[in-house]
Amino acid sequence: MKKDFIFSEITTLKGVGPQLSKYLKKKKIEKIKDIILNLPYSETDRSKISKLNELEVGKIHSIKVLVKKLNFPRLRNLPNKITCEDETGKIDIIYFNSREGYLRKLFPLNEYVIISGKVNFFNNKYQITNPDYVTKLENQSYVIKNIPKYNLTKGINEKKYRSISEQVINNLPKIEDWLNENFIKENGLIDWNVGIQKLHNSKDAKDINSKSYKRLVFDELCANFLTLLENRKRIKKNKIPKKVNYNYSKEVLKNLPFRLTNSQIKVLNEINDDLVSNKRMFRIIQGDVGSGKTIVSLISIYNVIKSGYQCALMSPTEILAKQHYLFSKKIFKNKINLEFLSGKTEYKKRKLILNNLENKKIDLLIGTHALFQKKINFNKLGLVVIDEQHKFGVKQRSDLAKKGGDNCDVLLMSATPIPRTMMMSIYGDMDISKINEKPANRKKIITLTKPEKKINEIWPFIKKQIENNNQVFWVCPLIEESKFLDYSSANKKFEQINKKFPNKVGLIHGALEKDDKEKVLRKFLNKDISILVSTTVIEVGIDFPNANLIIIENANKFGLAQLHQLRGRVGRGEKQSTCILLFKDGLTKNAIKRLKILKNSDDGFFIAEEDLKLRGFGDLIGYQQSGIKNFRFSDPVIHEDLFKLAEKYIQNIRENVNQNKYSFLLKFFDKAEIINVGED
Ligand code: ADP
Ligand code: MG
Repeated sequence: MKKDFIFSEITTLKGVGPQLSKYLKKKKIEKIKDIILNLPYSETDRSKISKLNELEVGKIHSIKVLVKKLNFPRLRNLPNKITCEDETGKIDIIYFNSREGYLRKLFPLNEYVIISGKVNFFNNKYQITNPDYVTKLENQSYVIKNIPKYNLTKGINEKKYRSISEQVINNLPKIEDWLNENFIKENGLIDWNVGIQKLHNSKDAKDINSKSYKRLVFDELCANFLTLLENRKRIKKNKIPKKVNYNYSKEVLKNLPFRLTNSQIKVLNEINDDLVSNKRMFRIIQGDVGSGKTIVSLISIYNVIKSGYQCALMSPTEILAKQHYLFSKKIFKNKINLEFLSGKTEYKKRKLILNNLENKKIDLLIGTHALFQKKINFNKLGLVVIDEQHKFGVKQRSDLAKKGGDNCDVLLMSATPIPRTMMMSIYGDMDISKINEKPANRKKIITLTKPEKKINEIWPFIKKQIENNNQVFWVCPLIEESKFLDYSSANKKFEQINKKFPNKVGLIHGALEKDDKEKVLRKFLNKDISILVSTTVIEVGIDFPNANLIIIENANKFGLAQLHQLRGRVGRGEKQSTCILLFKDGLTKNAIKRLKILKNSDDGFFIAEEDLKLRGFGDLIGYQQSGIKNFRFSDPVIHEDLFKLAEKYIQNIRENVNQNKYSFLLKFFDKAEIINVGED
């Protein structure tokens, strides 16, 4: 049996026809390797032969009995019945839909058979209906054992799946282990082949700290990290260095009423080093909401333009892009030519922009995804900046880098703080710059918690804010299963608040189209309304300097990191801001702890770490939404050590990933396609 076996279709197995493969596909089992990766969740104990007087109703038993009588009633609806016995009692074996000939063969009269199945009790007698196994004595070792229990789907029972999985697990080709023996021993791991065997034939699969499970985790992590590092290698190719000049940043800052924070300066220097190097930049700026990422990117843009290139700045929404455009106009004045492009740009205008881009009459193009449509050709693109795009996966990042061309640097910005353990798995292909200091003029946001039943106490506070021309966000909990429920709960809230503050309230909910959403946001931005009720998390990144109060309902439903992000929507301006967290009675200890962390800290990175510790990775709503959860077996809380180990291991690999052993690993975890490895 060859290694290729592992990557072939399941239909190459005996007994897997079109029907069965359709069922298996529902469980995402299409290739042989998927059977290996489909771990049992438990075992069914059939290992002991019970006497009939020991049977327990409702349990699975294996018995050895003598076939005494076969009864095939001619009446419809009556089941076939086989009466068996051992020295301690009698039992009926019941079949509803099996043919007589088949059963006569299975149950030879006056011979012993082994039967295994769930025992019930009917008419004062033990019964087994449709037993899982019936076999002759000489084959009993196939049945009398612990049998792995898999999550199965309609159309496949244990026996059927077993006949398939054993063809794979019992015939695994010996894989050239890509880890060496010493490393395996030193780190409490296990040989690949042995590990897989154990995962399927012992309780190891359930024990996330067993050697074999850990080995699988380590492999999964390495496959991920390797993909990212490979992606990085492909992106960080040679380019013509750009020039940076300190005076350029002074020129930009001249029109601003503030000085850069030390953190901003540090990050700017890191970017400058990249710009002047002869390798392409592929960097992400991580910084809390309001930490001032935009200005850093604009200074970099200015340097690149001054080096004779064009730049693109892309945002996820039109309204955010517009804000960047207006801000850029303000600080660049007439020093550069800049244009705005979105899906809504009129045909004529758009045509003009495309023309000017190709003729290099535009230095900076700001906009939405529209910037990267096929027809758009820059004359000499030198830098692409992408704002608030934490949904960009590895594949999209790699496509983006390709699209930019050989001399194009890439800078991403994100306000989603990532716990340290997760950095490598999420941004392992990029260099990371952190802004971990807020502008000095910021007042700390006051964070309060309040039980929902005391909601009446906050109306006067809201009223006062509105009288002072301040603005308020009101966040309703998101009901993820249903856009309708989502809408109706937010709508109720909207009506309730609108009664108290007529004509001053706007509403955004999950069922709104993007354009309609932006219309409401714009009304809020223009101060046409004072209170914005919303369910969907308000777009990250938009600056609402006038909003200074945010109320979050059912606060315990959100992840800490998410609450922190929501809170960051206020506190951008000069005024004192407040965040009120409302919750229902009966908070768990854990929930109280979490809210306390939020009250006491405004450091997004710290909060992300704590959130991970307290809630565990699986629960982090915020991360799931950002598409970050891409592991099947690994968990950064439970396997933190392995995350570290894998990171170190991968960084020390000097060989080419096209080597057989690595391409096996990448293919095994479906990573090969992302970086086109393994066509060996
Ligand atoms: P984010 O990092 O969330 O994208 P922004 O770049 O939108 O933050 O900055 C938030 C606000 O802070 C903007 O109004 C910006 O002009 C301002 N800002 C940026 N840097 C500083 C600074 N060093 N001092 C004071 N205000 C600053
Ligand atoms: Mg921003």
